[in-house]
Amino acid sequence: MDRNHYDADHLAFGEAFRAYVDKVIVPNYMDWERAGISPREIFQEAGKGGFLGMAVPEEFGGGGVDDFRFNQVLNEQIALAGVTGTGLGISLHNDTCLPYFLTFCNDEQKQRWLPGIVSGGLITAVAMTEPGAGSDLSGIRTSAKLDGDHYVVNGSKTFITNGINADLVITAVRTGEDRHKGISLMIIERGMDGFERGRNLDKLGLHSQDTAELAFTDVRVPVANRLGEEGEGFTYLTQKLPQERTSIAVNGVAEARAAFEETLQYVQDRKAFGKTIGSFQNTKFVLAELITEIDVAQAFLDQCVDRLNEKKLSAADAAKAKWWCTELQGRAIDKCLQLHGGYGYMTEYPVSRRYADARVTRIYGGTTEIMKSVVSKSLGL
Ligand SMILES: Cc1cc2nc3c(=O)[nH]c(=O)nc-3n(C[C@H](O)[C@H](O)[C@H](O)COP(=O)(O)OP(=O)(O)OC[C@H]3O[C@@H](n4cnc5c(N)ncnc54)[C@H](O)[C@@H]3O)c2cc1C
Repeated sequence: MDRNHYDADHLAFGEAFRAYVDKVIVPNYMDWERAGISPREIFQEAGKGGFLGMAVPEEFGGGGVDDFRFNQVLNEQIALAGVTGTGLGISLHNDTCLPYFLTFCNDEQKQRWLPGIVSGGLITAVAMTEPGAGSDLSGIRTSAKLDGDHYVVNGSKTFITNGINADLVITAVRTGEDRHKGISLMIIERGMDGFERGRNLDKLGLHSQDTAELAFTDVRVPVANRLGEEGEGFTYLTQKLPQERTSIAVNGVAEARAAFEETLQYVQDRKAFGKTIGSFQNTKFVLAELITEIDVAQAFLDQCVDRLNEKKLSAADAAKAKWWCTELQGRAIDKCLQLHGGYGYMTEYPVSRRYADARVTRIYGGTTEIMKSVVSKSLGL
C-alpha cells in the first residue's frame, strides 16, 4: 500500500543514510557479526553524516528537528540493508537514550554531553535490567548513597545494549526504599573508578551488537551527573519507554517487510518440480497473507509515530504497537525462512540472520506479556 507518511526531506535523509550504511557497515558486517561487536568508529562516521541527534537543538550541533519520522526512516534502511546487529546501536543511541538527555538534562549537562552525542564521540546506553530484576523494574537493587556532593553506587546490570562501547550509561539506581519513588537516574561515565564492564554476552542473534554486564563497586558519581530530580527515575522511565517501544515496533515491521521482499524475489527464481516455488498456491497464499499483515501493521504504526510527534502517544498504544509488530516480525520471518527451504537456514542468506535477530524483540523493551499488561491496565483491569 502506498504510504503517505514521509515528506521528500525524510526520503532524501533515508537515502543519504543508506549510502552511509552501504559504504561503512555492509562491507564489514559479517566480520563484525563474527567479532561480536561493531567498532566505535561507526558512530563517529554516522555523526559526520548528520545521522545522530537529529532532535538535538542546533546550538549543540544537532539537527534541530524533533520529528521521529527521521528516526523511523533510518531504522527502515537498517532493516532493508540487513544490518540490524550493527544498526541497533545507532537506533538505541538516537531513539531510546537521547530523549532522556534532551528532556532531563540541565543546561550544564546539555553543554557537557549533547555535542559528543551528536558527533558520535560519546556513545550512550541505558541500564535498567539487573540479574534479579527485568520485567519488574521497580525491584532493582543497585544502590546510590549520597555522600557529600557524590553518590556512591554499588550493584550490577545485565543485558545492556552498547554495554561495551558506551561512554555514558543512563543508570537506574535505588536512592530510597520506596519501590517507585526510591528510583533515580544518573549518568555513569566511562573511566569512573569502580565501573567495570563484564562479559560481552554470547547471544542467539544480533551478534555484531555488544550486549554486556556492567558492575559498579563504590563508584563515586557526582550529584551533577543525576538526571532530573532524585526519586523521579521511575516516572522518567515510564515517560520515555513509549518512544523506545515505538522504535522496536518500527524495526519489527521493517524487518518483516525486508524479509518479505527478499522472499518474493527468491520464490520467483528458485524452482522445484519444474516450476517456480512462487507458482505453488501455498506460496501465493502465504505471501498474500504476509503483505496484508505487514501493511495493516504499518498503518497503525505510522499513526503511532504521528501521535509520538504530537507528544500524545499513550503508553497503551505504544505497548499495542510493540507486541503486535514484534510478534508479526517473528511470524513473518519464520514463514519467509520456510519458503527458502534449506538455504534459509544458512547464515549467508539474510533471512536466517533476521530469524535469529528477531527472537529478542518480543523480550527487550518489555516482553509481550508485559505489553499486554500495560494494555489491559488501560482497560481498567
Ligand atoms: C539482547 C538484549 C538486549 C537488551 N538490552 C537492554 C538494555 O539495553 N538495557 C536494559 O536495561 N535491558 C536490556 N535488556 C533486558 C530486557 O529488557 C529484559 O530481558 C526484559 O525486560 C525481560 O526481563 P527478564 O529477562 O528479567 O525476564 P523476566 O522478567 O524474568 O521474565 C521471564 C518471563 O516471565 C514473564 N513475566 C514476568 N513478569 C510477568 C507478569 N507480571 N505477568 C506475566 N508474565 C510475566 C515475562 O514476560 C517472561 O516471559 C536486553 C535484553 C536482551 C536479551
